[in-house]
Amino acid sequence: MQLVDPFHRPIEYVRLSVTDRCDLRCGYCMPKGFRDFEEPEDWLSFDEIERVMAAFGRLGVTRIRLTGGEPLVRKHLPQLAARLSALPGIEDLSLSTNATRLAKHAQALKAAGISRLNASLDSLRADRFKAITQGKLDKVINGLMAARDAGFQPIKINMVVMAGVNDDEVEDMVDFCIEHDFTLRFIETMPMGETGLSASRHYVDLRQVRKRLEQRFELLPGMMPGGGPARYVRVAGTELRIGFITPISQHFCETCNRVRLSVDGTLYLCLGQDDKFELRPLLRDGISDSELEDAIRHAVALKPERHEFSDKPEQIVRFMSVTGG
Ligand code: SAM
Ligand code: SF4
Repeated sequence: MQLVDPFHRPIEYVRLSVTDRCDLRCGYCMPKGFRDFEEPEDWLSFDEIERVMAAFGRLGVTRIRLTGGEPLVRKHLPQLAARLSALPGIEDLSLSTNATRLAKHAQALKAAGISRLNASLDSLRADRFKAITQGKLDKVINGLMAARDAGFQPIKINMVVMAGVNDDEVEDMVDFCIEHDFTLRFIETMPMGETGLSASRHYVDLRQVRKRLEQRFELLPGMMPGGGPARYVRVAGTELRIGFITPISQHFCETCNRVRLSVDGTLYLCLGQDDKFELRPLLRDGISDSELEDAIRHAVALKPERHEFSDKPEQIVRFMSVTGG
């Protein structure tokens, strides 16, 4: 029953964007003043989302990540999480968040069956955090501490490293994650349309960051559960694991195991290509469960071999807030 794409990659993971809206405006993700959001009537309802995810579960998908936009901007998210974590076949439900609303929701999310949590944090300096995201750092830090108190373990901090913006903070971020028992992942900026912090101007090759860290820390080979594209090391003498996500300098398309469902019910087959399949019209036309499964199989057959961020950086036309990273 397992979904397999034309390049023999099993698809066992769906990144589910539950909204394209966000309470932050990270300069690499969403341009300032961006207004072209999906209309709420085009959003899949919780019933529709549950139906699509149940079909994926029957087709061998075991893992779902809630993402966005900011998933916690969608009302009643813990209720959706509880419905998805109860689906047959779904073994792992995780969340990517900017953490601004975690202080309020961490307990409910944990109770709803979310097992793992990733949070964006690009700077530990309030003024700089504000310049990058338009938001307040202390809300994010409070949210992270609330998540830890609620029992989330591991909590992975995602830092997009940008030249001249925050690349002088990588060592500070390592110290912060050692102190608070977080896992740290550095991410290379991907070109995603005309954003304020453009990838071409601020791109950093993470191999350089790793070399720099090696001057201060002893890095040992490491592993991390989760099956994602990060390559991990462990910092000797500490519990800290550091992941490097290098879509540009060392792309990992050959092991890609995922598809993305946007809030309007479009399945995107690759983060860096436009191949897609619209499920919403079919759902609203009343297709049967077996027709839905056929539609998903058909969509997976459209999955391209690889992204072309390096060869055609201008090609991608959707902001990251649409497909959820
Ligand atoms: N709002 C949530 C968050 O910030 O974690 C979930 C959605 S966000 C689009 C998911 C991830 O995509 C974040 O870790 C963010 O840093 C990353 N991201 C957004 N735009 C990016 C870009 N142009 N290059 C690399 N990573 C990007
Ligand atoms: Fe919002 Fe996450 Fe995009 Fe930042 S990266 S603007 S927090 S969706």
